[in-house]
Amino acid sequence: MLSVDNTFASPFNQRPIELGADFSVESLTKYINGHGDAMGGAIIGKKEYLDKIRAVSQVNLGGTISPFNAWLIMRGSVTLPLRMKQHNKNALEIAKWLEKQPSVSFVAYPGLESHKGYETAKKQMSPGFGGVLSFGLKADHDTHNKFVSNLKIITSAVSLGHDESLIVFLGENDERQYLYPQEFKNGFFRFSAGIEDTEDLIEDIRQALKSVGFKTTD
Ligand SMILES: *Cc1c(COP(=O)(O)O)cnc(C)c1O
Repeated sequence: MLSVDNTFASPFNQRPIELGADFSVESLTKYINGHGDAMGGAIIGKKEYLDKIRAVSQVNLGGTISPFNAWLIMRGSVTLPLRMKQHNKNALEIAKWLEKQPSVSFVAYPGLESHKGYETAKKQMSPGFGGVLSFGLKADHDTHNKFVSNLKIITSAVSLGHDESLIVFLGENDERQYLYPQEFKNGFFRFSAGIEDTEDLIEDIRQALKSVGFKTTD
């Protein structure tokens, strides 16, 4: 059986069961709720298996959602398609802008032709490639941190799929280093593009790059 964690893509951009998976797992905490204020999860699949999960796992492991969180997520999910359009647009435009910057060491986003998974992503994702990208600066640990502290609109925080843009710095000392591709090893940012105006976000990144002494192309 194949189970796919579809959290980063969201069902708006990718539907694993239509592509042949047996289960699709979604963290509702992320795009589906969309406002960074509730926690939940969903497993989508055949009824016979879901009945078993409900009867056995939920009883034995206690993984049941609180009614208030369920209500918030139901409310948030109504605007999923509208929000995803802006997440997709922001992430793609920011990824393309970052790729042109001389201070940027790499950009990883499945919607960029330079990404090694681009052809696969294009086949299985539509209309967009989600709101999460990674990038690094040609700079040391402290400069990466200073860049983040000088951002004004983008918030330094973990998680993703929030209406607000979030960025997290994972340094060269990160304990999960062994999982990362070579270009990530000098430290990198995970950036979750929110639903703000695209140009406001680019301007925020531009001014933060300038504040640590980097030139930008535009
Ligand atoms: C956040 C996340 C989870 C876990 O979600 P919860 O918020 O703990 O329910 C699982 N998979 C991915 C890819 C995630 O980003």
